[in-house]
Amino acid sequence: MDQEKASKAGFETRAIHAGYEPDPTTGAVIPPIYATSTYKQDGVGGLRGGYEYSRSANPTRTALEGALAALEEGERGFAFASGLAAEDTLIRALCKPGDHAVIPDDAYGGTFRLFDKVAQVWGLGHSPAPVSDIDAVRAAVRPGETKLVWVETPTNPLLNIGDIEALAGVAHEAGALLVVDNTFATPYLQQPLNLGADVVVHSTTKYAGGHSDVVGGALVVRNLEVAEKVTFHQNAMGAVPGPFDAFLTHRGLKTLGVRMDRHCDNAERVVDFLVGHPKVERVIYPGLAEHPGHEIATKQMKRYGGIVSFRVKGGEQAALDVCARTDVFTLGESLGGVESLIEHPGKMTHASVAGTDLEVPADLIRLSVGIETADDLVGDLERALG
Ligand SMILES: *Cc1c(COP(=O)(O)O)cnc(C)c1O
Repeated sequence: MDQEKASKAGFETRAIHAGYEPDPTTGAVIPPIYATSTYKQDGVGGLRGGYEYSRSANPTRTALEGALAALEEGERGFAFASGLAAEDTLIRALCKPGDHAVIPDDAYGGTFRLFDKVAQVWGLGHSPAPVSDIDAVRAAVRPGETKLVWVETPTNPLLNIGDIEALAGVAHEAGALLVVDNTFATPYLQQPLNLGADVVVHSTTKYAGGHSDVVGGALVVRNLEVAEKVTFHQNAMGAVPGPFDAFLTHRGLKTLGVRMDRHCDNAERVVDFLVGHPKVERVIYPGLAEHPGHEIATKQMKRYGGIVSFRVKGGEQAALDVCARTDVFTLGESLGGVESLIEHPGKMTHASVAGTDLEVPADLIRLSVGIETADDLVGDLERALG
């Protein structure tokens, strides 16, 4: 499809057609996986299509990057070897030693570790603040020093919601950029750049890839100046995905819309079942009217996503027992794949924050609701809860 038209088409059309056209030499509908590190030059400096070395650019990666930019409605997209590789590259591209960042007080554990154990040693300070409390975020910002206000929404595993438009205002007032980790919502449900954010971060390992078969990351930026810095650092730091990984991620992206709708349908069915179940203490889902972020989520998200957390009666042992008894829900870390996963954050994904302010309740269970038959998912939880 004509790329000019594709970039202005509806979401699902962009997901399928943006970023590439059928291979001009063979007509192959899906362009080949360019397993090449280098490119023949027609005379010194005579590049065909601008390709010279695959760390700098590779056509399979270029196609994925075009699709990512089109889906987030950004100026440019960039693919990386993992979500954390994308984050590290962004931090170095936009900050220097002596700068400061505000991060979520319940950031994804790997993001917190990157700021706390890597970026801090390099010289970037950080202050944690709750993304759902705009005054707390404003108070954490140091005008002149803070270069990044970094948020996730919804957060993991308590699904707190930050008001992206208001957060952009707070960041911009202080001369900082707003970075939104959009891994949980995906561009199908929420488009932070259209709400004033400057950069979107993804772990494409999760919903974007969507099949639990590839690790990857992405950045999408709103303006050319930031794009130029990221372009330089992506090449200078070299944390890029290989062509096979770029192909798999791009293949996943094409079905993002239909998958997300089914993830949301199934999550809603699971929430309906859990609410009011005698062994369930509390269900945490932004789609519930009682969720403190419900109104803002409704304003900025199309639907409420596929992650559901809940607390069981009977404390930690009861939660561990439920995790041990499911069969359709696989016990495992990560999220966002077609298959449903169950985990105990206190002992698994969030074990490293035990004993800190970030500790999660011991009776908490997190579900990544997949796209299997909803009745099978509800039946599995019914048996596991006993
Ligand atoms: C998984 C995850 C990351 C890190 O991505 P990797 O691909 O594992 O490096 C960052 N942010 C969020 C919200 C995540 O879930």
